[in-house]
Amino acid sequence: MRAFRYHRPADVAEAVTLLGAGTEAAYLAGGTNLVDLMKLGVARPDVLVDVNRLPLGGIEALPDGGLRVGATVRNSDLAAHPVVRRDYPVLARALLAAASGQLRNMATTGGNLLQRTRCVYFQDTGKACNKREPGTGCAARHGQNRDLAILDWSEQCVATHPSDLAVALVALDAVVEVTGVDGPREVPMVELHRSPGDHPERDTVLPAGALITGVRVPPLPAARRSSYLKVRDRASFAFAAGSVAAVLDLDAGVVRDVRLAYGAVAHRPWRALRAEAELRGRPFTPELAAVAADAELASARPLRHNAFKVPLVRAITVRVLTELAEVAA
Ligand SMILES: Cc1cc2nc3c(=O)[nH]c(=O)nc-3n(C[C@H](O)[C@H](O)[C@H](O)COP(=O)(O)OP(=O)(O)OC[C@H]3O[C@@H](n4cnc5c(N)ncnc54)[C@H](O)[C@@H]3O)c2cc1C
Ligand code: SF4
Repeated sequence: MRAFRYHRPADVAEAVTLLGAGTEAAYLAGGTNLVDLMKLGVARPDVLVDVNRLPLGGIEALPDGGLRVGATVRNSDLAAHPVVRRDYPVLARALLAAASGQLRNMATTGGNLLQRTRCVYFQDTGKACNKREPGTGCAARHGQNRDLAILDWSEQCVATHPSDLAVALVALDAVVEVTGVDGPREVPMVELHRSPGDHPERDTVLPAGALITGVRVPPLPAARRSSYLKVRDRASFAFAAGSVAAVLDLDAGVVRDVRLAYGAVAHRPWRALRAEAELRGRPFTPELAAVAADAELASARPLRHNAFKVPLVRAITVRVLTELAEVAA
C-alpha cells in the first residue's frame, strides 16, 4: 500500500476543501470497498478524507411524509429503522440482501452508492481495463463475463454496478444531496450513475471532489407494498446475478402505479420504464408481468457467458410482482 495523508474534518466545508488538496484524494467512509481497492493497488489515493465524524448520521422523517438519510448512516441501521421497514420495505430488503452483517455494520449510504464495480478484471492490475486505466482495453468483453451487463454496455466496458441499495432507491425516485466546491446540489438517483459509453472510467455524473451528504426518499404511500428480490450464487455474502426492486399499487386488481428497477444488468441501476408502461392501467396478471419484462428486456444484448440473465430477470419480475399482487388481494 502507498503512503497517504489522513484527515478527519469536523464539517462538510472542511471535508470538501481538504479533498481538493490531493491529486488523487478520496473520501473514506466505512472503507469496506475503498480499503480493499487500496490493498489491490486499484485505488491509489494520496489523501484520505475520513467522513465518519461529519454530522451526516441521521435518519429523519420529513414533514411531507418522505425520508432523509444522512450519507454516513450505516446500512444495518437504515435497514432496521422502523419507518423504513413500514413505509419502504423495498429498501430494507435490498439492504439486508447485501453483503454480510459485519459489512453492513460498517458500510454507509454514500459509500454504498459509490462502490466500484466487482468486475474481476477491474480488480486485477495485471489485466486490461478501460475503467481502471482508460485506453488499455476491456479484458471482460471477450473474457469471463458471466456476472456482467446485458443492457446498455459499450465495447469499452461491460461492467455492472454492484449496489443493491441503489436499485431500490432508483425505483423510489430518490434524490441524492451533494456538496462540492461550487456548493450544494441535488441529483436524481436515476441520473447519478452513467452508461459506460466511451468513458467507463466515470461511474457517475458527480464532479471530482463532490461529497454525498444525504439521500432524500420522496413520500410514496404505495411503497408500503414493495419488495426486493435478488438471485445470487450463495444465500448471503454474494453480489446479485440479477435483482428487481418493485412497488405495486393496485386498484380493484388494476395497476394504478408501479415502479420497477433491475440490478446486475447494466453499468447503472436500471429503471424499467418500458415494463412499467406495459403494466400501468391494466388488470394485473402474472402473464402481463411476463409481457412487461419481455418489453424491457427486448433491448438486451447478452455477452458470451451471461444469456441466462434474460430469463432470470424475467422470472424474478413475474415472481415479485405476483407476490405483491397476492398481498394486495
Ligand atoms: C465480501 C463483500 C460482499 C459484498 N456484497 C454486497 C452486496 O451483495 N450488495 C451490495 O450492495 N454491496 C455489497 N458489498 C459492498 C459493500 O456494500 C460496499 O463495500 C459498501 O456499501 C461501501 O460503503 P463504505 O461506506 O464502506 O464505502 P467506502 O469503501 O468507504 O467508499 C466507497 C467509495 O465511495 C466513496 N465515498 C464514500 N462515502 C462518500 C461520500 N459521502 N461522498 C462521496 N464519496 C464517498 C469513497 O471515496 C469510495 O470511492 C460487499 C462487499 C464485500 C467486501
Ligand atoms: S468490463 Fe469494464 S471494468 Fe471490466 S475489464 Fe472491461 S472496462 Fe474494466
